[in-house]
Amino acid sequence: MIIKVGGAAGIDYDFLCEDIATLWQENKSLVLVHGGSSFTDELSRKLDHPPRFVTSVSGIQSRFTDRETLEIFEMAYCGKMNKGIVERLQRLEVNAVGLSGLDGRIWEGPRKTTLKIVENGKRKVLRGDHTGRVERVNINLIEMLLENGYLPVLTPPAASFDGEAINVDGDRAAAVLGAALKADTVLFLSNVPGLLKDVEDEKSLIKKLCLKDLESAKNDIARGRMKKKVMGAGEAIEAGVGRCIFGDARIPQPVRSALEGRGTVIERG
Ligand code: ADP
Repeated sequence: MIIKVGGAAGIDYDFLCEDIATLWQENKSLVLVHGGSSFTDELSRKLDHPPRFVTSVSGIQSRFTDRETLEIFEMAYCGKMNKGIVERLQRLEVNAVGLSGLDGRIWEGPRKTTLKIVENGKRKVLRGDHTGRVERVNINLIEMLLENGYLPVLTPPAASFDGEAINVDGDRAAAVLGAALKADTVLFLSNVPGLLKDVEDEKSLIKKLCLKDLESAKNDIARGRMKKKVMGAGEAIEAGVGRCIFGDARIPQPVRSALEGRGTVIERG
């Protein structure tokens, strides 16, 4: 199982780690992937390099990552966020190992140096971007850790084919990892109960979706970064993952609740 937990405000990492620690005692084939978006935004502002979000010509929102942003991103994701989670797990007697996708080229893929965006209704090209997408996974390293009783705790950045650090979307990276490891389940936990028909109304949860519904869910229901989660789930299931679940990471036992079906369950058929 792959558990991807986001970095949005409101996520309770104590609840998450307590739940993972008890699951880990029962089954040691688990990989945790995490984000760190909200702390990265906070740190960027403190360091006087505020985040710049852009919308691509295909309507997907992402963070423009110049070199300075990449370094702040690493401080947040690989520093405070990763070590905070590893420390929580270590205190719960789980031998967690925190790594970025750059380490051992766990996640590898092409870098995109230019971004085609739409700003104020106009098309623009932004240069100097340090982003990319994951195409290859070093499953050897992950399997080596799992076989020896370590819980891998992974976070972006990934490695470009030239070995540069690249900002990649954590949801889609978790999906590629799930496919490479032939995971039964990929959980995407965030600060919402799942995919909502109306993002303002937590009671409008969509309980089930199948593969063919995902294109319209991405275009008509998901907004902003939720689109990437829907894309990630689609890619994982296309690649043979049994099911994906979008669940709530603000509640006690977030993993068990999602596994019991509290959230949006996505399956092939
Ligand atoms: P994380 O960093 O935790 O993975 P994201 O910020 O990437 O989280 O995505 C979760 C956010 O997606 C929610 O906080 C919510 O505001 C937004 N969102 C947009 N559309 C939807 C939707 N239809 N259903 C649920 N959440 C949505």
